[in-house]
Amino acid sequence: MTEPIKNCLYCGTEFEDRTTNDKKKYCSTKCKDKYYYWNKGMKEKKKNRLQELKKDIIMKYSDGKMECECCGNKNIEFLTIDHIDENGAKERRKHGTGHNYYRWLKKNDYPTDLNLRCYA
Ligand SMILES: [Zn+2]
Ligand SMILES: [Zn+2]
Repeated sequence: MTEPIKNCLYCGTEFEDRTTNDKKKYCSTKCKDKYYYWNKGMKEKKKNRLQELKKDIIMKYSDGKMECECCGNKNIEFLTIDHIDENGAKERRKHGTGHNYYRWLKKNDYPTDLNLRCYA
């Protein structure tokens, strides 16, 4: 038998988990709801921050035009930064994908041997 006393994930209050499947994580449903909304808010914020970072990067590489060089696609979801010599995949493996890659670009002062491309 495991200790049925736990700390609420939201408020930290100790409570007794009387369920047999060890599922309770909150002292009350109120805390459960609060934690859920808090967590959702955090995810949303993180997503927004990533969007901002990507926007920054796209902005830099498109001279503020925010569109694909080859076809004028303005949908940021389709836009990506790639190596001019088609080494993009290899580069990304080295520096991570997605936001890790964008962070790397920013940290390295936006290397110039990269191109704005689109998936379209
Ligand atoms: Zn609680
Ligand atoms: Zn394009």
